[in-house]
Amino acid sequence: MLTEELIAEPHLNVRGKLIRRQDADYEQARKVHNGMIDKYPDMIVQCVDVADVIAAVNFARENDVLVAVRSGGHSGGGFGMCDKGLVIDLSHMKGVHVDPVERTALVDAGCTLGDVDHATHAFGLALPSGIVSTTGVGGITLGGGLGHLTRHCGLSIDNMLEADVVLPDGSFVKASATQNQDLFWGLRGGGGNFGVVTSFLFRLHPVSMVVGGPMLWPMSEARTVMQWYRTFIQKAPSISMGSLRFCRCRPDRRFPSICGGKRCAE
Ligand SMILES: Cc1cc2nc3c(=O)[nH]c(=O)nc-3n(C[C@H](O)[C@H](O)[C@H](O)COP(=O)(O)OP(=O)(O)OC[C@H]3O[C@@H](n4cnc5c(N)ncnc54)[C@H](O)[C@@H]3O)c2cc1C
Repeated sequence: MLTEELIAEPHLNVRGKLIRRQDADYEQARKVHNGMIDKYPDMIVQCVDVADVIAAVNFARENDVLVAVRSGGHSGGGFGMCDKGLVIDLSHMKGVHVDPVERTALVDAGCTLGDVDHATHAFGLALPSGIVSTTGVGGITLGGGLGHLTRHCGLSIDNMLEADVVLPDGSFVKASATQNQDLFWGLRGGGGNFGVVTSFLFRLHPVSMVVGGPMLWPMSEARTVMQWYRTFIQKAPSISMGSLRFCRCRPDRRFPSICGGKRCAE
């Protein structure tokens, strides 16, 4: 476990930043998307490369330290943070390498969906994944990855070709359909339970023009709209995607972009 002495002098050989409670950037570094999560790790290692991840994993194992792995920090339950223990923060590992001929992207585990979109769109390509640009590729992929392109191109894990992983014993392996197949199977939906993924190789899809946006109906029409949607989406071509949501708009608020400036009645 992490003693006062170990926290003061961890002998952790990393190129990234090691942040502890007394440091000025500690408050910022422990923040995650869900503001209700308020956890206080003893140390946060902001890894910059695979060697940093290996060093952090070895340090945690050798000293029997609780570990949380953070990528985009969007876990609703705050699983990318821990109380006490060590956070392996991947959010500074940001490279995206697109191969436009093979239609693949090698994506570092700290990228957000926005980082990937930015890099792939330049080539008219896209990774099927979630709908919010600040979500981390790490967590969303390991959980499946559902979004606007899913009906046509599958989940993120259907398009994951390889993953580089640091295992709990500190070894570095590749998982794919031909190497470490059992690990590859587990990573596709099993969450972050098998090791720290440092990068993903994805298949990309050509995506040129996307037309989209919200349509709003009052709550009183919910039944009619849902019945219509059930029939519509079964017959709709796979290139179209939709989702039904119930939301409350404050009656005193105007939403010019979606309600044409009218006040919402419901
Ligand atoms: C605003 C918002 C929008 C969302 N939209 C969608 C959506 O459109 N589609 C969808 O499918 N999901 C969506 N989600 C759910 C989201 O995919 C999950 O919460 C996901 O786990 C977030 O990943 P993260 O890397 O951002 O989070 P983190 O909190 O960093 O990580 C989440 C979990 O994954 C583990 N993990 C992360 N990276 C790694 C890694 N490299 N190696 C090992 N373990 C790792 C962490 O330890 C933690 O347990 C959304 C969530 C939010 C908050």
